[in-house]
Amino acid sequence: MLDIQKIRAEFPILSQTVNGKPLVYFDNGATSQKPQIVIDAIAKYYQEINANIHRGVHTLSQLATDAYEISRGKVRHHINAKFAHEVLFTSGTTHGINLVTNGFASILKPGDEVIVSSLEHHSNIVPWQMLCEKTGAILKVIPMNEDGELIMEAFEALLSEKTKVVTVNHISNALGIINPIKYMIEKAHAVGAAVLIDGAQAVPHLKPDVQDLDCDFYAFSGHKMCGPTGTGILYGKEAWFNKLPPYQGGGEMIKEVTFEKTTYADLPHKFEAGTPNIAGGIVLGTAIDYLNSIGFENIQKQEEELLTHATKRLLEIEGLKIYGTGKNKASVVSFNIDGIHPYDIGSIIDKLGIAVRTGHHCAQPIMNFFCIPGTIRASFSFYNTVEEIDLMVEAVKKAKTMLS
Ligand code: PLP
Repeated sequence: MLDIQKIRAEFPILSQTVNGKPLVYFDNGATSQKPQIVIDAIAKYYQEINANIHRGVHTLSQLATDAYEISRGKVRHHINAKFAHEVLFTSGTTHGINLVTNGFASILKPGDEVIVSSLEHHSNIVPWQMLCEKTGAILKVIPMNEDGELIMEAFEALLSEKTKVVTVNHISNALGIINPIKYMIEKAHAVGAAVLIDGAQAVPHLKPDVQDLDCDFYAFSGHKMCGPTGTGILYGKEAWFNKLPPYQGGGEMIKEVTFEKTTYADLPHKFEAGTPNIAGGIVLGTAIDYLNSIGFENIQKQEEELLTHATKRLLEIEGLKIYGTGKNKASVVSFNIDGIHPYDIGSIIDKLGIAVRTGHHCAQPIMNFFCIPGTIRASFSFYNTVEEIDLMVEAVKKAKTMLS
């Protein structure tokens, strides 16, 4: 059992008041809060070892380079990548996905097919649309059912020898549905397609094993897993990273430059042009250590309890509908109340100190499917409590009375 109060004390922001009320932070899907150890590690980097990496022979540069590469090693271990050079530092999930779509622009041919799912965040739709526009490839979409689950029969029917890439999120940000990615990867590989998994919403809740999943790419953001903003990881199989052209040109990603010809650096540097977010990359390792010190089994147990409690309590409210009722779910509840705009509920409960996300959650196709403008999304983290959920439920009831 986790000592939640002890954990909460490690997150300074959680003891704040907002609008005169204790903060109840249920917008973890957008970004997680940061423990003191992560905040301190950022200051420590700048106070003690700030220097540019991979460039200097001087001591600070060596220290910064070592810390950065140690962090890459931690990520490699965390996601069970075969090699450290299969782990690229990025600025986030969006960056990672764009790096891959940019690379596929030199591989796809007119008439090739790219399959995305109807549960995707805009970050995992728009780059693929841009790629298809550029190459003449065709975008196909895996449909979903009323429970917010992808329809596997329809997915399998879309697969053919024309399919070159399949992409799907591990966990949907708008609904919290956990997709059967291992099954989907196997099916996609059976027709020779590469698979990119958008793991942005998964990494706060579970430890992905990229070798077991056998995915070709796995992208995620550091800021959703207690790490700093502007950090992220793109995992890719060595063979794919060798095949794809660099994303950006510049310093760091070259072996030799002449005006006649430039040769590129070995992995991972080929994809890491320019001075990266050094502090962020190092501290992402601190955040991963922190989450592992809590333990993902413990995190999942706590979050399951929160999800069960929130679902039960919210359904007590008449006219409340939850979207994403599939069985396999992370700790996210997306809901609306009959006849009331989600924004109005969100604004009123904010005055009561409760932070939830309202709107389309960068997943407009999902909102179009349900014919709604948006939802109220409460996304829970291991540092949340059932008492906070009760406060939210009372606040939503109050808002409903005011707006009805
Ligand atoms: N994919 C999913 C499923 C997300 O939830 C998000 C962010 O909310 C992203 C991609 C984009 O992440 P970032 O803005 O950190 O690049």
